[in-house]
Amino acid sequence: MPFRDIYGQEHAIGLLNQAVHRDRMPHAWLFTGQANIGKYKTAVALAQKLNCRKGEKDACGECDYCLQIVEQNFLDYQVLIPDGKFIKIDQIRKALNWLHLHPDQAKKRVMILDGAQHLGREAANAFLKTLEEPAPHTLLILIAESSQQLPETIVSRCQQIRFRPLSEEISERILRQTTDLTKERIQLLSAFSMGSVNRNLAVRLEIMETVQKTAIVWLTTFSASTLEEMLRTCESWCKSKNEEWCLLLDFLETWFRDLTWLLHGLPEEKLINRNVNAGESRIKALRNSAGYFKQKQIYEIFSRIVQTRRAIELNANKSLAVESLCLHMYRIAV
Ligand SMILES: [Zn+2]
Repeated sequence: MPFRDIYGQEHAIGLLNQAVHRDRMPHAWLFTGQANIGKYKTAVALAQKLNCRKGEKDACGECDYCLQIVEQNFLDYQVLIPDGKFIKIDQIRKALNWLHLHPDQAKKRVMILDGAQHLGREAANAFLKTLEEPAPHTLLILIAESSQQLPETIVSRCQQIRFRPLSEEISERILRQTTDLTKERIQLLSAFSMGSVNRNLAVRLEIMETVQKTAIVWLTTFSASTLEEMLRTCESWCKSKNEEWCLLLDFLETWFRDLTWLLHGLPEEKLINRNVNAGESRIKALRNSAGYFKQKQIYEIFSRIVQTRRAIELNANKSLAVESLCLHMYRIAV
């Protein structure tokens, strides 16, 4: 996929093009930004551009080198992803040995490290040595959601490019081109993808809708029986393979973000939950829900949602974390 097929990242691509054309390529790039916005695709497109046999301004996407890169079949190109939870030391050693060999066909060997935040400590140290003394014919592209997830020593040796969230218009365009979903569902998905294109969510659309409908009942009727039902459901969502708890946190984030907008009197067409399923509006439910909270409490719940997600990432007990968030919400509302 050449640069021209990547939408919404003109800024990043501009910087990369400049570096190539001025022959100012650093030995390591660090691409950061939220998931599913095109960081990996851009890294592949850069590898193509550097090796393409036909294209001039951009890779052609069709020559044997371009195709081999996409298929991860090109001798001077490797993609490293975590094996399990971490990128292991053996993986890194093997990859770094490969990287230091002289290129077979290309001018530079390109290695993409996707999920660089999963470098274990030992692996990060081994990697750091390569960054300190890079071989002349190598290019590394590290991909992570945020530079804060990586050791400062690694970040400072890379040239960072921050990728931007996608506009709703662009994520709708990408979903139109890559899925068979109806217009309404595409609108729903892009509203809830929060600046990215989450195709996994497309598969989970029905589960997502169930989670949202259930949560809206909780958020508009705070009663003793809601509380009981809420805690029971949270527990089963946390145990379920479908990971509904994750969709719940995503949804709560959009809900409380919308409540903030409502309380500030901002235009309704900007609400994420304005329209779902062909005209069925959630604005009434949002107004109803807003009656339970003061502005300060909404901000507080919003940050509790972020904290809950982070705690779970750091291995906190999922059920306990989600239930305590919901309890907190309930306590404020009644
Ligand atoms: Zn090509």
